Amino acid sequence: MKTISSSKVIYSFTYDMEPVETVSPGEVFKVETNDCFYQQIEREDQIITEIDYDRINPATGPIYVEGAEPGDILKIKILDIAVAGKGVSGTVPNEGALGDQVTRPTIRIINIEDGYAVLEGIKVPIEPMIGVIGVAPKEEDGKLPTEMPWKHGGNMDTKDIKKGSTLYLPVYQKGALLALGDCHAAMGDGEICFTGLEIPAVVTLEVDLIKGKTIEWPLVETDEYTAVIASGNTLDEALYLAASEAVKHLKNGLNLTWEDAYILAGLAVDMKISQVVDPKKTVRAAIPKQIIATERIIESL
Ligand code: CA
Ligand code: CA
Repeated sequence: MKTISSSKVIYSFTYDMEPVETVSPGEVFKVETNDCFYQQIEREDQIITEIDYDRINPATGPIYVEGAEPGDILKIKILDIAVAGKGVSGTVPNEGALGDQVTRPTIRIINIEDGYAVLEGIKVPIEPMIGVIGVAPKEEDGKLPTEMPWKHGGNMDTKDIKKGSTLYLPVYQKGALLALGDCHAAMGDGEICFTGLEIPAVVTLEVDLIKGKTIEWPLVETDEYTAVIASGNTLDEALYLAASEAVKHLKNGLNLTWEDAYILAGLAVDMKISQVVDPKKTVRAAIPKQIIATERIIESL
């Protein structure tokens, strides 16, 4: 099985990135990821504001997917996320939802014990997830730093991007050029404190292609729902974009009028806050599979 080394990283998604490895549809492979600080934080007495901020949010890759062409969808099955034995979280003044209340930077090195992250004796069950995962963007989108969530994926910080889920990303460039990093052992919806439990990981993936179909925004499929992941300059804007796309999927997938699709969304679609701490905010619209199967949404694109 191919393993892509965590020494091969990018800090921006660009349309003309140079791939470091090639995989084929149906191939299972491993990707080693760094934590979002590139492991620069090792002790609680370090000053979080004094690390090298040019090495924040490394994403391993890019990985060229054989046969991927603009106008396809890249289907990424997340088979496993094996995290390290400890991770790091912290507060940074003026960062996070309550950044104005942060009077001093604080670092916590948090051990993982028997499937729990342990903070001050309090046990939090881990649920590893991928914070940054994306493909080469459209040329007109320019250079998208890995901290940015957008239509190509990127820093979506969405806790549903976890083991057992399937992520669907639009392909804009030949080979798709997939890269990922910034895994969290645990994170609450919103990621309010600026960090999740930042941790190196080894991610096992299987990629496939859906030819000749495209999506405006990424989709993540869990056991229960298919969620549209949209990002905007404000939470309101992100919510509007996610809701619009979800209603479109309901309308097309179930052959409803737009009005009935909108009413159905009001009854059944959960709007969830993915993150509020990145340059754009991310909201997902979760469409229950009981209402419509993911395959049906894809077929109707
Ligand atoms: Ca992140
Ligand atoms: Ca992170």
